[in-house]
Amino acid sequence: MDEQQKQERHKKKAQKQKEKVDASVAKATIERGVVIVITGNGKGKSTSGFGTVARCVGHGYKAAVVQFIKGKWDCGERDLLEGHGVPFSVMGTGFTWNTQDRAGDIAAAEEVWREAKKFLADPQYHLVLLDELTYMLGYDYLDKQEVLDAIANRPENQSVVVTGRGAIRELRDIADTVSEIKDEKHAFRSGVKARQGVDW
Ligand code: ATP
Ligand code: MG
Repeated sequence: MDEQQKQERHKKKAQKQKEKVDASVAKATIERGVVIVITGNGKGKSTSGFGTVARCVGHGYKAAVVQFIKGKWDCGERDLLEGHGVPFSVMGTGFTWNTQDRAGDIAAAEEVWREAKKFLADPQYHLVLLDELTYMLGYDYLDKQEVLDAIANRPENQSVVVTGRGAIRELRDIADTVSEIKDEKHAFRSGVKARQGVDW
C-alpha cells in the first residue's frame, strides 16, 4: 500500500467514526441537570469534583461545595473558590476514621447536611458538590431516603457531583453518570508524602 492509499484509508475510517459520533450527539437532546457519582479506591474523586466546580464557575454559573469529611489540611480549592463566590459548608467537628464518638459524628453530619439541603433546593445553584458524602450513607450517619430524595428532587437544571469510596447501590441507581476510579498504584505506598498543591 503506498502513502496515498494509506491516506485514503485513514480518511474513510475517520469519516465513518465521525458519522457515528455525530449520530450519537444528535440523539442526546435532553437538557437538564445530572447526578454524577465519582467513586472507587483510586485517587482523583475530589479532584474531579472540584474540577467540575471550576468549570461551572468559569462559565459564570453559581456552585456550592459541601464537604462531609473535614480534611487534615486546609484545602487549596477552598481558598481559591471562596474568593470566586463559591460557598463552602464543611463538617465542623468530629469525623475522623478512628473516632469513638458515633453520636458526635452523626450530629456533625446532620448539621452539614442541613446546609446541603438548602443548596439542593435552590435553583440559583447550577452545581452542588457533595464531597465525601458516600461515607455518610455507607455508615448510616444520615437518613438514606432523605438524602436520596433531596438529590432526586433538586431543581431541574441543577447538577450534583457526589464523591467518595464505596457509593451505595441506591445512590448509583439515581445517578446519571457513575465513574469508578480504579486504584492501580499510589505514590503514598512507595513512601512519598502527600503534597500540598497536589493532594490537597
Ligand atoms: P483526591 O482528593 O486527591 O482527588 P480522592 O478524593 O480520590 O483524592 P480520598 O479518599 O478522598 O480520595 O483521599 C483523600 C486523600 O488521600 C488525598 O490526599 C488523596 O491524594 C489521598 N489518596 C487518594 N487515593 C489514595 C490511595 N489509593 N492511596 C493513598 N492515598 C490516597
Ligand atoms: Mg476525596
